[in-house]
Amino acid sequence: LSRMRKGLSRSSGKLGDGIGAIFTKRKLDDAALEELEELLISADLGVSTAAKMTAGLAKERFDKEVDPQEVRAALAEQVAERLEPVAKPLDLDGSRKPHVVLVVGVNGSGKTTTIGKLAKQWADAGHKVHLAAGDTFRAAAVEQLQIWGQRTGAPVTARDTGADAAGLAYDALQQAQREGADVLLVDTAGRLHNKANLMAELQKIVRVLKKLDDSAPHDVLLVLDATIGQNAVQQVQTFKELVNVTGLVVTKLDGSARGGVLVALADRFGLPVHAIGVGESAEDMRPFSARAFARALVG
Ligand code: GDP
Repeated sequence: LSRMRKGLSRSSGKLGDGIGAIFTKRKLDDAALEELEELLISADLGVSTAAKMTAGLAKERFDKEVDPQEVRAALAEQVAERLEPVAKPLDLDGSRKPHVVLVVGVNGSGKTTTIGKLAKQWADAGHKVHLAAGDTFRAAAVEQLQIWGQRTGAPVTARDTGADAAGLAYDALQQAQREGADVLLVDTAGRLHNKANLMAELQKIVRVLKKLDDSAPHDVLLVLDATIGQNAVQQVQTFKELVNVTGLVVTKLDGSARGGVLVALADRFGLPVHAIGVGESAEDMRPFSARAFARALVG
């Protein structure tokens, strides 16, 4: 958690200090509420979430003297209440052989790294993991996944650059079924600049997986880079139009993270946040804890 706290400290510093600046010897009046709303927006909580949280605070304490500590605690409580329903680890369904997880997201969001971290976590827990290098556009992505395969002992189905991703996903599932794998993680391309092509590709992958297992994919994880702040909201919207996103993994919360966007995402979409990334190595993935995150964010 300390890494996340450090990562969030830039935004939380801003939020925590900002609350201190607004609420020193001050009544909770309209002007103070307006300043608070702006502060929440600047911390990436988004316009509608900021308005709701400010209204929530006003409802309890309008026209009363408040101190920063009280406001921080009240806001942290509101953040935690919004995040608690979405904080859900990704559970493997043992009856599925394999449990198929399709991983989507724009290039650079941390898809391949997240797959590596999940592979490590599940392999360490004694599960048999298989990987599919479905980002067939980038040789580097395929190589990177193969490295994760070596590190975790998970076999990797890969093909040459430019190969058909759906064909590869089909082969990977067939192979994983033959091996009796517990989980198959499928990497995908993230070329969002060509949305129509990406949609066709993702839908084709889903279609061919269903030929071998009509309940697959069992999870569709969207990987989001927290450092893009409010832009993550649009990214979720876009990917929801392309494919049936079932949950999120939010990465790079160790950097100068703009973690406030998680509150906006929870409020707007209610999608489960299965894990967070706090660094580049295999161990740098954490379950998402609503209370710890709320405290770290509000400071
Ligand atoms: P992809 O293009 O979506 O597959 O993204 P990659 O997995 O290749 O990640 C892009 C870059 O972000 C790489 O340099 C990763 O090491 C880095 N990265 C991924 N997750 C995290 C994280 O949680 N924290 C940090 N600091 N870097 C990360």
